[in-house]
Amino acid sequence: MSSPDLTDTLPQPRTATDRKTTDRPPGRATAATLRADSVSAWFADHKVLDRVSLTMPAHQVTALIGPSGCGKSTFLRILNRMHELIASASLSGRVMLDDEDIYDRGRRITHARRQIGMVFQKPNPFPAMSIYDNVVAGLKLNAIKATRDGRDDLVEECLTKAGLWNEAKDRLRQPGGALSGGQQQRLCIARSLAVRPRVLLMDEPCSALDPTSTRRIEETIAELKSEVTIVIVTHNMQQAARVSDTCAFFLASHGTPGVIVEHGDTEAMFNLPQDERTSDYVNGRFG
Ligand code: ADP
Ligand code: MG
Repeated sequence: MSSPDLTDTLPQPRTATDRKTTDRPPGRATAATLRADSVSAWFADHKVLDRVSLTMPAHQVTALIGPSGCGKSTFLRILNRMHELIASASLSGRVMLDDEDIYDRGRRITHARRQIGMVFQKPNPFPAMSIYDNVVAGLKLNAIKATRDGRDDLVEECLTKAGLWNEAKDRLRQPGGALSGGQQQRLCIARSLAVRPRVLLMDEPCSALDPTSTRRIEETIAELKSEVTIVIVTHNMQQAARVSDTCAFFLASHGTPGVIVEHGDTEAMFNLPQDERTSDYVNGRFG
């Protein structure tokens, strides 16, 4: 699978028109509801998602679960317009951020990326860049002006929210690459938060981490949802049960495109699934 260029994973520079419509004063990020409406996806003529609809409510954590290859990452990339970076990729359907269509022809791709951030499986800080500069990297790319004091405050705030401040405050000028894997992932979360996204997408953010780091990220997720909507892909059923409010079970059986078999309140999905396939999956009988 081709992975997008690193700079594509960051909020991109914007035009003057974008700035007018998207700038919000610092400190005023507002979580939004993200709604996928009959989303289908293809790589060349291979259809990998079939009419997937899902509401991911503001201030909640939505977990996407299901076996490998059922289209979870593809779905996530469609939610912030990263899918279209892949040459052979196409899609149909709509994605609404509150009442705004992120695929609206009048909208630039960068508008969606700034509001809907992404954290990947493998932590991808700029390794040679300092911890401090990693956090504010998105500001520079977006040409968001901030005073030195403003940047200092933002770095402290975002590292605190990402649960990394205490460990990083005395080494802000050291390279991001010098941190442990779990710390690097929290640095990537801090970097995403610095541009005030309304939604944070996380694609198996803990699968490369040890259990202690995983716990730290889970605590961070629980704290973040007061200001940002979170959508997380995870293969870890205990994690899905611990961190999410709602849950969607994806399945692509026998080479057919991925669909959502069942979705709803996480507790109900785990304790009283309506579909036998959900029950088998959450109880570890396949996948
Ligand atoms: P998941 O995240 O659930 O494991 P993916 O979204 O990665 O699933 O993959 C869904 C399907 O799309 C799979 O059949 C996979 O092989 C295919 N796929 C994913 N990325 C690409 C790509 N860049 N080019 C071609 N096919 C791809
Ligand atoms: Mg995946």
